[in-house]
Amino acid sequence: MTARTRPFNFSAGPAMLPEEVLREAAAEMLDWHGSGMGVMEMSHRGREFIEIYETAERNLRALLAVPPEFRILFMQGGGLGENAIVPMNLSRGGLVDVIVTGAWSKKSLGEAGRYANACAAASNEASGFTTLPAPASWELREGASYLHLCSNETIHGVEFQTLPDLAALGSSAPLVVDCSSHVLSRSIDWSRVGLAFAGAQKNIGPAGLTIVFVREDLLGHALPICPTAFDYTVVAEHGSMFNTPPTYGIYIAGLVFQHVLRQGGVAEMERRAIERSQLLYRYLDDNGGFYRNPVAADARSRMNVPFFLADASHNEAFLAGAREAGLLQLKGHKSVGGMRASLYNAMPLAGVQTLVEYMKDFVRRHG
Ligand SMILES: *Cc1c(COP(=O)(O)O)cnc(C)c1O
Repeated sequence: MTARTRPFNFSAGPAMLPEEVLREAAAEMLDWHGSGMGVMEMSHRGREFIEIYETAERNLRALLAVPPEFRILFMQGGGLGENAIVPMNLSRGGLVDVIVTGAWSKKSLGEAGRYANACAAASNEASGFTTLPAPASWELREGASYLHLCSNETIHGVEFQTLPDLAALGSSAPLVVDCSSHVLSRSIDWSRVGLAFAGAQKNIGPAGLTIVFVREDLLGHALPICPTAFDYTVVAEHGSMFNTPPTYGIYIAGLVFQHVLRQGGVAEMERRAIERSQLLYRYLDDNGGFYRNPVAADARSRMNVPFFLADASHNEAFLAGAREAGLLQLKGHKSVGGMRASLYNAMPLAGVQTLVEYMKDFVRRHG
């Protein structure tokens, strides 16, 4: 363990990275492994970068036990880009069902509607996005091209603890999962997934890089309007090098993958995520009503914990004191208000311990 030299950063994304990774990248900035070049200055087709790329892909495949029938694409455009790229590749202009559980899946529904007949198969909006609609209640349309869900709603702090088995629900549609904000914090049951995508800026690396896992049998059906650079089939055929991929982002992601492997892999990330989030939720549920988290217990996210001060007039003082205590970026999303603590893989347990101590101290001073 390196000594703590920086504040704890609770940003929802772009988010904190492991300090060890930042130091490695800094040390290699001017000269990667004696090549005389920094990674940003290398051809994406040169042997040095190909080695970086192949190592990153191999390690990611190992970390998430991605089966061979899935291709891993290193793309650009972020999660919102994928909200368009997925329907352009998978919808065939037909029916797209979406499970609406928060701001992100609601955006996915809106964007898919530009390319396909998109419809909410279930929604928790009436609960203020604080619950998960039971799969048995989902209205799945026959012949849908796919079903979209967001497995962790970053803004509302709602997380699926298991992915639905669509076949058991009588649907043959492939499942599309936006796992941007909890990828690498838990395993993925690939037998239930057709495609998964993740913007990198939460648990993987710099914003811009977007990772897509797509089952091979879903390739080959892009709409004619799909830009060639966003056609999964073309991207897959070119090993993510149809156009210049986000090379520096892939390099940092590769360092993060190696770091996670050294720390014990995704199982260890999950153990830590449970430990961190339980510590915070226990305090939120048992602090005499000064703070509260509104999300139903079985829907609570291990990664993003929104919380509210009962007296919102203390919000500014809370945030200012937190900054002084070395606890950064705790302000909630503007659509929700209050606070949000994002507890991604790079957040040490000590960060949450420090946060809870600060929250207790704040109650003593303002309660
Ligand atoms: C952050 C995030 C995205 C990414 O959106 P950008 O287009 O990269 O800004 C998508 N979905 C979820 C669930 C996210 O948390």
